[in-house]
Order: sequence, then structure tokens, then C-alpha cells
Amino acid sequence: MLRTHTCGELRSEHIGNTVTLTGWVQKQRDKGGVVWIDLRDRYGITQLIFEEGVTEQSIIDQAKKVGREFVIKATGEVVERYSKNDKMPTGDIEIRVNEFQVLNGSKIPPFTIEDETDGGEDLRMKYRYLDIRRNPVREKLQLRHTMMQKVREYLNKEAFVEVETPYLIKSTPEGARDFVVPSRMNENEFYALPQSPQTFKQLLMVAGMDRYFQIVKCFRDEDLRADRQPEFTQIDCEMAFVEQEDVLQTFEGMTKFLYKEIKGIELGDFQRISYDEAMTKYGSDKPDLRFGMEFCELNDLAQGKGFVVFDSAKLVVGINAEGCAEYSRKQLDALTDFVKKPQIGAKGLVYVKCNEDGSFKSSVDKFFDQEALKGWAEKFNAKPGDLLLILAGETNQTRKALNELRLEMGERLGLRDKKKVAAAWVLDFPLLEWDEETQRYHAMHHPFTAPKPEDVDKLDSDPGAIRANAYDMVINGVEAGGGSIRIHDRELQAKMFEVLGFSKEEAEEQFGFLMGAFEYGAPPHGGIAYGFDRMCAIMAGEQSIRDFIAFPKNNAGRDVMIDSPGKISQDQLDELGLKLVEPKKQ
Ligand code: ASP
Repeated sequence: MLRTHTCGELRSEHIGNTVTLTGWVQKQRDKGGVVWIDLRDRYGITQLIFEEGVTEQSIIDQAKKVGREFVIKATGEVVERYSKNDKMPTGDIEIRVNEFQVLNGSKIPPFTIEDETDGGEDLRMKYRYLDIRRNPVREKLQLRHTMMQKVREYLNKEAFVEVETPYLIKSTPEGARDFVVPSRMNENEFYALPQSPQTFKQLLMVAGMDRYFQIVKCFRDEDLRADRQPEFTQIDCEMAFVEQEDVLQTFEGMTKFLYKEIKGIELGDFQRISYDEAMTKYGSDKPDLRFGMEFCELNDLAQGKGFVVFDSAKLVVGINAEGCAEYSRKQLDALTDFVKKPQIGAKGLVYVKCNEDGSFKSSVDKFFDQEALKGWAEKFNAKPGDLLLILAGETNQTRKALNELRLEMGERLGLRDKKKVAAAWVLDFPLLEWDEETQRYHAMHHPFTAPKPEDVDKLDSDPGAIRANAYDMVINGVEAGGGSIRIHDRELQAKMFEVLGFSKEEAEEQFGFLMGAFEYGAPPHGGIAYGFDRMCAIMAGEQSIRDFIAFPKNNAGRDVMIDSPGKISQDQLDELGLKLVEPKKQ
């Protein structure tokens, strides 16, 4: 090694030792007679001192010339500092340098390599290798590393075997668009990159592996958001000879283990809530359960009183924002604007202030007298000082909009506490979801999910009413993972494809290999996959998954550092038998 110690390890017990450190210049201070350099590496920062009369002049001259992010090597004696810095682990000591070497210079970095940087996101992505030098980013990657080790530790202990599955495969329907790769050796044919290893892990169960896991890249060509990347990582798992409860116990156990080991937090047993209940109470299949503010439906009390907005609505439903009766006109207008945003889509917001004196003030006083409003307040369990916020309209849309308002109010009232962890299982998802646009059913999870046995007979008569043995793990309003018990019977799987609108031939062509395998003794099986990047972000209390990925893509799916995607040469195109067409107009 070029060094004897790292920049994070020297303490007062090392005083008197001669050491050699290497690293980057975090900053250099030239006070005339004395020069200090803060030397940084992954492990910390150590101060170097160069002092006239003590340090050789030629070395001081060299030290004066270095700039930020120069890579240097310095040898010297560990000495006690004149003025100690109790904010730094190495703050009791400094190194009195007597040998000094610049290993490499550096251009002035395009943004400051500090915890709080002046660099915007685009610039930081372009120079990601500089961004990773900053503590907050490096720490996130280290958290990811620790998570990976702990996941492996837990699953290994539970007898899971880590098996790699291929990336060049054919379509796996997880509901997104595929990324495709042309095959040179098979003209006019394409591989698809896996949206998940779903079919392979099922085949591993048929193969008798019994318990499989993989920390694996998945690829989905869909619109990006803060918590989505075109390539992302899953902790993908599958178990044979299990029922839903076994999967829930195993992975609730894993999540508890991760929180305990990484955050020192003992999680209690997870809440369990059915999909229907989650939608009715919170308008979301991933409710943030760190706070209550449950929906309260008002159809019975609010309809038929001549207020046409309510009378024409399928659903009248609201939340109680406790202690918010004092909200000003301006604050209420801001909430109305919030729910009317196109992405939320409500037409308006009705409020009822439950005044301290027991009276009520609402935006619908014309239609509802004090007695009526009192009835509402009772239904909401509201106290004087509370504010009821009510939406009306088509059922699903209204629930969705109220979910957004609930989250917004939770945020405003400080109820979405980063330090709290509310973990839950959402259970009993519908098997299928009707899609208006294509006028057919889609699998809500994926086509391999098993219907609940008691609902199987509805496959012909009432497919929309079938529930599945499918489950999502939701932590603080984020879907951390999801899975299901699978179909392991050829007939049922074929039936499922039929309900999803596949012809026999299409089903055979795409999934014949899986249905074929089911004819050779497929065990009952089920599993789950966690969004690993997301799980890291949840663990750190962050929204965006980007910083937990070493080299992420931007919102347009571009890697701006390596400038990809990019063009390929005519030779490559010819070899692949591809011809480019005029780009579509934007
Ligand atoms: N393959 C599923 C997914 O990616 C997870 C699972 O069902 O295990 O969501």
C-alpha cells in the first residue's frame, strides 16, 4: 500500500508515530507562516500541517501549490493539535509533514465536493465520480452494500440458494414495455431483457431448488419518476411447498432483521389490511400508515339535500384534518388548488370548520344547516377545532384524489415522521383489473398469480370478482415488495391466459415452456420480490432512489456521464440486419 493508515483512523494514541497518508485535498488554508491541508479519503479527513521553521521550505512551497482534489501522499509525525476539533473523529491530532508528493493534479471540480454542494443534479450526474466523493452519496452506496450483505446473511440462514438467471431472454409480462436486444446470430430475432426473473424462478421451483433468491437487475421501459429507473435491482425470491402465510412470515422476518441490524430498530408485527379496506380507508393500495386520517364516507348524510355536486356523485368522502379549523381563506384556497391540479383531478373541495364554540362554518352553508353539519362532524368523530375536507365524484377517482390530499395534509401536519416506521401487508388483491382502453382484463400482479381457490369457479362467470393470493409489503406508504402464490397447474395457467385474451397459439408461443414444465411435477410455490433500490431509500428515509444507485439514469433514461443511449455504426446495423427510419416527430 502507498499508505500506512487511512484518513479516518488516527487518534491521540498514535501521537509520536510516523505515518504515511494518501488522499484528496479537501481544502488548503495558507496562513502565511502555516499551511494546513485537509486530506480526505473514503474513511475520513485528517489535517496535515506545514509550518515555517519546522517544515522544510521546499515542502511548504509544494503544499502551497496544491489545489482542491489534488491527489497527494504525505509522510510525517502524528502530533497533538494546537486547537482540537471535537466535530472530527481525527480532530485531536494532525500530521507534521516531512515528505510530500503530488500523485496527481486535478482541474477545479465543477461543483464543490462538500456535503452541501452547489452542483445541480444534471451536473452531478455528468461527473458522478466526483459526486460519489461526497459523504452523503458515498454513505448511501455503503448502506446499499450493507443491505446486500445482510439480505444474503438472512436468506442464506433460511436455506435460500442464490442462483443467477439470464438477462437475454424473452418477454416476461410484468406490465411494462420490454427493452429488446437484436440477435446477430438469429437474424430478425430479438431477445428481451427481463422485467423480472419471474418465469425462471418458477422453473427453479419445478427443478427442485426449493428456495431461491437473487439480487438481480431488472429492466422495464416505462416512464421514469424519482423512485423508478429503467434498470433497477430486485431481491427476488421464490419458495416451494408453501402457502401465503409462509411467504409472509419469512419476508416479514427478513424486513425485521434488516431494520434491527441496520437501524437498530425492533419492528413489531406488521399490520395487515386487505386491498378493499386499503382502498376504502385510504384510497390507495400502499397507504402511509404512520398516521390515521381515515376516509369517512358521507353519501348517506350528504346526498339528497339539493346540492347537485354531491347528488350527482357516486361517492362523497372526506378526511378530518385535526386542529386545522383555524385555516385561513388563503390556506383553504391553496388546498382547493392542490386537489384541482390536473394530476389529482378533483373538481373542487368542500370544507367544514368545526369551530371551538361548537358551531360550524362550511363552504356549503347554503345547502346544509348547522344540524346537518353537526351530523357530519359526528360521523367523522371530529372535535371542535377540526377541519373536514370533502371530495365528491366517481368512486375510484375521488378516492385517489383524497389519498393525495390525505398525504398532503399528513405532510403539512408533520405526521409523516421520517423516524417512524409503519410496515404493513396489503392482502387479497383482485386477480384481474379491467382496462377500459383495451376492453379486456389485465393481470393485476402478473399472469402467473394464483386465484384464491374458493374463487376459481368465477373465472368464467365473474372474473373481475376473483381475489388472488397476492400481497404487497408497504412501508411508510411505499411499495417495498410484492409477490404471490403461483399457479402450478397447466390447465389453470392455460385458462388464465385465455381470460387475459391470449389465443391458444399466442399463449403456447410465449409461455409454452412454462406450461410444459408444469406437466413434469411442478410443486406448489410462491414468492416475492423487493425493489432493492427502493428498500435502501426507505431504510434511509429518502424519496429518491437515484443516490442509492452508483450510476443512475436521468428522467429521460439517459446516462449523461457516458452519454448513452447513442448511435451505433452502420457496420453494426448491417451485421444485425437493422435499418434506421426517420425519427418520429416529438
Ligand atoms: N416478479 C414479481 C415482480 O417483479 C414479483 C413476484 O411476483 O415475485 O413484481
